[in-house]
Amino acid sequence: MTATSKPVLVTGATGFIGAHIVDNLLARGLSVRGTTRTVAKGQAMVDARPESKGRLEFVQIEDFEKSANFNEAVHGVGAIIHTASPLNYSAKDNEKELILPAIHGVRAVLEAAASNPDVKRVVITSSFASVLDANRKSPPYFTYTGEDWNPLTYEESIDKATTAVIAYRGSKKFAELEAWNFVKENNPSFDLVTLCPPMTFGPIVHPVKSVNDLNESNAMLWSIASGTKPLPVARVPFWIDVRDLAKAHVEALLRPEVGGRRYVPACPERFSYGKAAKIMSDEFESLRAGVSVEDQKIDESHGLDGETAAKELGFDYHPFKETVKDLISQALEMAKNVQ
Ligand code: NAP
Repeated sequence: MTATSKPVLVTGATGFIGAHIVDNLLARGLSVRGTTRTVAKGQAMVDARPESKGRLEFVQIEDFEKSANFNEAVHGVGAIIHTASPLNYSAKDNEKELILPAIHGVRAVLEAAASNPDVKRVVITSSFASVLDANRKSPPYFTYTGEDWNPLTYEESIDKATTAVIAYRGSKKFAELEAWNFVKENNPSFDLVTLCPPMTFGPIVHPVKSVNDLNESNAMLWSIASGTKPLPVARVPFWIDVRDLAKAHVEALLRPEVGGRRYVPACPERFSYGKAAKIMSDEFESLRAGVSVEDQKIDESHGLDGETAAKELGFDYHPFKETVKDLISQALEMAKNVQ
């Protein structure tokens, strides 16, 4: 596909991952239309990028809980990267706040895309949550790939007794399935690529009022820097740097040959919060006394195939140390402004 002549629509463009995707597209000279529920957040993104004046604009959309409609947003664009999806572990009603909005968002993006024949490729940010089978245990050693699907049923994921973590896994699985089914049933003029990343960490480029408002994944690392004891335990040892993930999205948009692929981009180096704490203690003198350094065993019982995405999409992975250092030095600066 060639997205160069028309703007790329990025949903969730004011979010942690979305804003990095916006910057990657802008750095390649492309024009971007972002969507946001909050005009001021879009304006903050534009104001922070004066060098891209005229190449970045925002359109307002409603919360997917109320209505999902991208008909205006897709007008005149040549490709779409859909990242917007609720990621909130404090949901009270899982189906209403997490699962249905995620599905409706995907459905609305694809319906709008199908009305614009210029759209040749849609890339969707799914998640390792839609790949993981929480009951699959080794031995023998196994490696998750883009062929794997979380076996969770819809009924299990909306069960009132379930946790928001499990409901989130359902939201990503059923939203992604909606996309693949849409393409199969409607044979639209675009093809689809989905990316299923695990925990995503790294410096931020989106508008965040305070260090206390970091997105869920980075907030975990900041809680360690803030002295949380005992350390949280990672549910899975897999992660990716947000800059690598942004590049993966843009390459997935621009490479014609990867249409129809489902990737699991993930750094081959595993992580634990104990490893993060050690990096923080070693690298930041101001944190040394407060950070709880614990030796946490890193799960080596199974793997995740991040190599295929790196090879086919042409990018390298940041090491964990650099990701943690870059985020925490930025967060420490932000913390100076907290009253
Ligand atoms: P984020 O910072 O919370 O950004 C998500 C953006 O989506 C928000 O900025 C918001 O934009 C929009 N959004 C959220 N809920 C919405 C709703 N109910 N209706 C309409 N728009 C909504 O999250 P992120 O970490 O960048 O995540 C982006 C995507 O990556 C999500 O699909 C997530 O599932 C996936 N993912 C994230 C991680 C991770 O570790 N962070 C890992 C794997 C996959 P506005 O507020 O501007 O409207």
